[in-house]
Amino acid sequence: MRMPGRHFLQIPGPTNVPDRILRAMDMPTMDHRSPAFGALGLRVLAGMKTIFKCSGPVFIYPASGTGAWEAALVNTLSPGDAVLMYETGHFATLWRGLALRLGLEPEFLQGDWRTGVHPGAIEERLREDREHRIKAVCVVHNETSTGCTASIAEVRAAIDAAGHPALLMVDTISSLASIDFRQDEWGVDVTVGGSQKGLMLPPGLSFNAVSAKALAASRTARLPRSFWSWEEMLPANEKGFFPYTPATNLLYGLAEAIDMLHEEGLDAVFARHARHAEATRRAVAAWGLDVFCREPRNHSGSLTAVLMPEGHSADRFRRIVAETFNMSLGNGLSKIADRVFRIGHLGDFNDLMLAGTLSGVEMGLALAGVPHRRGGVQAALDHLAATAGAGDARKEAAE
Ligand SMILES: *Cc1c(COP(=O)(O)O)cnc(C)c1O
Repeated sequence: MRMPGRHFLQIPGPTNVPDRILRAMDMPTMDHRSPAFGALGLRVLAGMKTIFKCSGPVFIYPASGTGAWEAALVNTLSPGDAVLMYETGHFATLWRGLALRLGLEPEFLQGDWRTGVHPGAIEERLREDREHRIKAVCVVHNETSTGCTASIAEVRAAIDAAGHPALLMVDTISSLASIDFRQDEWGVDVTVGGSQKGLMLPPGLSFNAVSAKALAASRTARLPRSFWSWEEMLPANEKGFFPYTPATNLLYGLAEAIDMLHEEGLDAVFARHARHAEATRRAVAAWGLDVFCREPRNHSGSLTAVLMPEGHSADRFRRIVAETFNMSLGNGLSKIADRVFRIGHLGDFNDLMLAGTLSGVEMGLALAGVPHRRGGVQAALDHLAATAGAGDARKEAAE
């Protein structure tokens, strides 16, 4: 059946692809060995450094984020290496499973999924590791299954306080270009990113941003690698090329995305996400529901997971919203399946899109018979209006 109007894609990734990016990709595919391609390659490779805020190389893979997870591990580690990972939720658990299958020995610091990373637990474990068996600490910056964000600066400080030489690897797939991230300043050794969330692109590209220390580790690391090999990439990348056929049309889109992010300004992009997240949490509170992430300091700027009242199915609610209002909301993953739904408010997104999204949620709660109070949308609108614009409209209103 035809559903008129635009679909509301409010899952926390893939996100809405803006028309400007769709237009930029709608081009004939070029010769990836031509000088024109080299110029595009150099532009996006340099451009991504401004997004990761790094001075070292960025590698771009024609792969989903999972590929870049694998690339981070196989380039830097050897069979049997211990890696310290933190159980923030479903995505951290998937990364751990990947490490296990690669022949690494992941150690999982237990979490309850409703709280963020506790840097003290990392420091304590690293202090015990006097022989430095642990070669890497891996954390998910923004745990997309729960809506909890970790402080990477604090994780760095914990590793330094323990005086431990492990590499720091961070998954920013659902935070890059939505929540502040600083590879160099925070001393991150490998950052993993993906195209389909804050970068506003379709799925299909992923990234490793790499420090000098990680690059040095890659020279002695013994896990087998070929497709993911940084060593193969580096010489080709110097002139903007790739050792195999790159995802050319996605790279046109990436160049456009980088321009758009800088036109808005990265700080403004982060502030926009934080403001939409705050408005969303105000709606959830007004409905009388619980935000799944319990610690305000860890509340995510890119998505909000909402806990369903006991005895009510999140999946049934999401189905009603999809069928009635043509809007996709994120589902609960693995051990919180059917218990939460997730509202994505990241990527190319504005106040009225959020207003529409929250309206769909509030009407859906009523249609699905989920106990709640009305007025969530109004609470969000009040916050949006009170914090709208660059300040000019507010100043005028106050005069
Ligand atoms: C989406 C996501 C992934 C998985 O990326 P794919 O592109 O599906 O392989 C990994 N980690 C986080 C934090 C994510 O949000």
